[in-house]
Amino acid sequence: MPDFFINGQPVHAERGQTVLQAALAAGFYIPYFCWHPNLSVAGNCRVCVVEVEGEGGGGSWSDIACNMPVTEGMRVLTDSEPVREQRKQILQFILLNHPVDCGVCDKAGECMLQDHHYAYNGEPSVSTVPKVRATKYFQLSDRIVLDNERCIVCSRCVRFTREVSGSHGLGIQHRGDHSLVRAAEDGAFNTDPYSDNVVDICPVGALLSKRFLHKARVWYLQPTPSVCPGCARGCTVNLWHRKHEWKLNHLDPKQNTEIARVTPLANPAVNGPWICNKGRDLAALFERPRAEQALLKGRPVALGEAFAAARRLIDDAGRPVALVSSWGSNEELAAFKRLLGSRFSCFVKSDQRPAPGEVVEDDILIRADKNPNTATAKQLFGEAPVAFPDGADLVLVWGEGFDFTQLPRGARVIYLNAYLAPENGHADVFVPISIQTERGGHYTNFDGHTGSFERLFAPKPTVAHAEDVFAKLATTVEVA
Ligand code: SF4
Ligand code: SF4
Repeated sequence: MPDFFINGQPVHAERGQTVLQAALAAGFYIPYFCWHPNLSVAGNCRVCVVEVEGEGGGGSWSDIACNMPVTEGMRVLTDSEPVREQRKQILQFILLNHPVDCGVCDKAGECMLQDHHYAYNGEPSVSTVPKVRATKYFQLSDRIVLDNERCIVCSRCVRFTREVSGSHGLGIQHRGDHSLVRAAEDGAFNTDPYSDNVVDICPVGALLSKRFLHKARVWYLQPTPSVCPGCARGCTVNLWHRKHEWKLNHLDPKQNTEIARVTPLANPAVNGPWICNKGRDLAALFERPRAEQALLKGRPVALGEAFAAARRLIDDAGRPVALVSSWGSNEELAAFKRLLGSRFSCFVKSDQRPAPGEVVEDDILIRADKNPNTATAKQLFGEAPVAFPDGADLVLVWGEGFDFTQLPRGARVIYLNAYLAPENGHADVFVPISIQTERGGHYTNFDGHTGSFERLFAPKPTVAHAEDVFAKLATTVEVA
């Protein structure tokens, strides 16, 4: 482990670390655009320039910190007058053709160029010639638009498709002022299941999500940590939604309870800093039409009446079977086991299966099991496939994914589901339940890592939490 000095202070570095990596790890900030901790070093933006003091009174020299290995005893200055001056010039250069779009740019508020300009330059452009114009709102793919005027040609997006997703989907055409990021003709950017990560890693507002385009200023939003339930990987994510203090009362109040966007929450043990596009589309999954009314054979009833009817069915059943949800949280699954597990023959059900056209599995993140908590469910209820023993006369179905035509003949049905579905009205008892965004809990992924999710929105009063339903249904069973 070499020791070296940053601004006169001794700093330890891991063997092989660059000056930029060692400085950031030790709490010395050096600005950067093109460098990214999970991509190769490109060294093209030059803004991480530092000064290295010469040995034995020799002259000092400047170099980029991202590409300079630490050597024993080297002395680095990150904030000297020459460094400050060079950074200013680099920012003047990077901003030469950059439009002042901040007022309409989705990246405003989390743009590295905005931040670095204010921190290290802060002066008007010295250029006296018009900015070079380039394409705006260029359709880079079905999901992403590109503003070439805002692109600072850092190549992060290009490296991502080569080094992480492997689609080789992006490249840079032409040179100098006329450089343009474009989808490679022989690449597969449009079908790259990880393409939206380039929106996050673009240091400026050049790459933008079409779904989020001009939907909200980021300072109106707040992130809530969660787990993507899209597959057994269980990526750690942030679900962004409108802050309470920016609540809309008249202008589209629906936005107050919508997921505005989904971004990765870096978790080295599970997903690193990335997620797949399915995780970005969680809003569409969660915001499907909801079931909000308890039913007895399609007849609307209060929740209490539905619980009472379900309890009677359980009391009267000879051989009750439960199909347990692989979308239940650890807490809900444990509650079912504790409260009802001894009364039912239990089988774990796959709530979701791969959708047509979806990437089923790869060696990056995506898992073939499209359920977040199969691991815990099978640990508690076994691996046996769903099967109905002879004489099964009651089936409790928890969650989606079961084909009701497979029900044993004559069996009564208690159905717990969160979404509108034709089966809801056919069940003897139907209870609408809350979804992940309306409660807290944990999932354990295929690899044994447990992730937690927090509540974003309150459920409707006519909707019950599954854990509460199990407690209500257990009352009579325990007394009996
Ligand atoms: S589009 Fe963004 S990430 Fe790609 S090269 Fe331009 S600035 Fe960099
Ligand atoms: S890999 Fe799986 S868990 Fe991760 S974002 Fe994609 S669907 Fe969600």
